[in-house]
Amino acid sequence: MNVITLNNNVRMPQLGFGVWQVADDEAEKAVTTALECGYRSIDTAKLYRNEKGVGRALRASGIPREELFVTTKLWNDDHGYDKTMRAFDASMRRLGLETLDLYLIHWPAPRQGKYVETWKALEMLYVDKRVKAIGVSNFTVANLELLLAETEVIPALNQIELHPQLAQRELRGFHAHRGIATEAWSPLGQGKGLLDLPVLTDIGAKYGKTAAQVVLRWHIQLGNIVIPKSVTPSRIKENIEVFDFELSPDDMAAINGLDEGRRLGPDPVV
Ligand code: NAD
Repeated sequence: MNVITLNNNVRMPQLGFGVWQVADDEAEKAVTTALECGYRSIDTAKLYRNEKGVGRALRASGIPREELFVTTKLWNDDHGYDKTMRAFDASMRRLGLETLDLYLIHWPAPRQGKYVETWKALEMLYVDKRVKAIGVSNFTVANLELLLAETEVIPALNQIELHPQLAQRELRGFHAHRGIATEAWSPLGQGKGLLDLPVLTDIGAKYGKTAAQVVLRWHIQLGNIVIPKSVTPSRIKENIEVFDFELSPDDMAAINGLDEGRRLGPDPVV
């Protein structure tokens, strides 16, 4: 498994497993399968209502805690210093963990105007060593610039919607310049349409790989951290088998050509 070294030297698997829209019991099963297939990084959130199921799967696996990398996120209605502290404790109770690997502000929620104050709470959790790394999600360049100007700790990463049809070139450039890692959510474009594109299936045929594996490999070669989701065991396995081939520069260029700025999720600016 490839590893990305974050800006505070914490090492994070480049490929992890996401559990959005997976009910608690199903999440327990899916995470168990993922761990059996070799995934060691799990991405959940308070919003997903499956932190308990994730925690059960982690404990039942018997995998030493230090080999696992667990991410959860602070939801929008918990912004603010004190509320963040309480929300963190509640997430940790549900996960059944003492220490978290990565805590993210799920959305900047700019109309609330509290993400700077919220970040200061994350900084305190980090200083207290309750979390190994802190980061953000769905932050724009403007949101990041304000955070960098007003706070001490540079986010370890920004988790953003990113797939071949929304390649986020500008934001990735900004991240690289400031030492912030890029993590892609909906890395497979939610499987909707993207994976049927002939460009991707044709490239896959050359390597004996599926379109999903080609897309995940594209992310890996760009240096993105990826957290594909599936509840189907064969796909969970397929999605981690992307470290035994390499896309040529021409293939990378062809996939880069699919970018059309097509968002599947909400625009964080609105
Ligand atoms: P994804 O791009 O990972 O696509 C998942 C869907 O693609 C599956 O439900 C399935 O229908 C299909 N799929 C998966 N593997 C496949 C395969 N091998 N072949 C064919 N089809 C396949 O979408 P996602 O779940 O939206 O994103 C992944 C993770 O990112 C989430 O589970 C969550 O952890 C995270 N996320 C974060 C945010 C955020 O705001 N921070 C938002 C959305 C998702």
